[in-house]
Amino acid sequence: MEQDNSTDKLGTLASRRKRINRIKITIILLVVLFLILPTIICVIMFFKVNSLQKQIDVLMIEHYGVTYTELNKKNHQSVAHAAVVNKSKVSNNDEQTSIEERKDSDATNQKKDALNNTQNDKNSSNDNSAGTEVFSNESVYDLNFTINKEAMKSKKVYLTFDDGPSKYTGDILDILAEYNVKATFFVIGKTDDFSKSMYKRIVDEGHSIGIHSYSHVYDNIYNSLENFDKDFTKLSDLLYDTTGYIPNIYRFPGGSGNNVSNVKISNIVKYLNNNNIVYFDWNVENGDATGNLLTPKELYYNVIKGVNIHNTSIVLMHDTDTKENTVKSLKYVLKTLTDLQAEILPLNKSVTPIQQVEAGQYINK
Ligand code: ZN
Repeated sequence: MEQDNSTDKLGTLASRRKRINRIKITIILLVVLFLILPTIICVIMFFKVNSLQKQIDVLMIEHYGVTYTELNKKNHQSVAHAAVVNKSKVSNNDEQTSIEERKDSDATNQKKDALNNTQNDKNSSNDNSAGTEVFSNESVYDLNFTINKEAMKSKKVYLTFDDGPSKYTGDILDILAEYNVKATFFVIGKTDDFSKSMYKRIVDEGHSIGIHSYSHVYDNIYNSLENFDKDFTKLSDLLYDTTGYIPNIYRFPGGSGNNVSNVKISNIVKYLNNNNIVYFDWNVENGDATGNLLTPKELYYNVIKGVNIHNTSIVLMHDTDTKENTVKSLKYVLKTLTDLQAEILPLNKSVTPIQQVEAGQYINK
């Protein structure tokens, strides 16, 4: 009996010990889990944030010419101004102008509310005003800077649209047709039927089509010359298959002066030179890629001001689903430029290019 009793006791003791051990292990596991899990999450988040930051920088450089951090340092300057100042090839003349633009833009903002009110009045009384809603109550010449009308007659203007096709490509083409002018589209790669029909319309209607990038993903295209070549060729082939035309003009995503490329830009330039491709940067921006959403009127001002100070202007605009205001501003840009008899032309490889990094220095080297 006694023996049985003590065996029972031993058994209970052992199972109790087991239970305690199990609880101990559970507690240890829980503690470890609560310590390690957040650490792992932190590490994952750290890398995630880093990669997002990189993507933001890529986009920022493309659109503003500076990284997010650099832009924050320039807190008191407008995004557009920061972008202009940062460009390596900006002349003093241009820089002064951009300061003027900033002042003008402030003035424009102040006038905007008043203008919007008159617009609403006008629109309600005139439903047929599709072409006049932006500058309803004033002449398109009501600019708060002086235009040299005589000099305008000898100016050359190359309007360029990057990043299309988009849902607005058709509208842009319609407006260009209305004014009977030709422009240049630096497109990206899209294979849906609508986009293909837009590539075709661009070519069929006499505009220039140029290569921008198939993927437009900097990490990919600027990672190696091999990747660059693959991306370039993929878009070139797509455009040839769609339009029957092999593009020979190019625009670097971010411009040739970008500093995000892992490949030396000079190597890409040599690649382009070897393939007889001419690349074009720009010297006028309508500002549709700046952080602040500019009104059609502000976009219009930026173009006219830029054209006003250059003999030859290559104007950077964007053709994406978010750039409705660019489309709205376009007819006024065209009206003003055609009225002032500036010559609006499409780019082709014999046009003297505007380049942040000049291609000529790498020919036959
Ligand atoms: Zn682009």
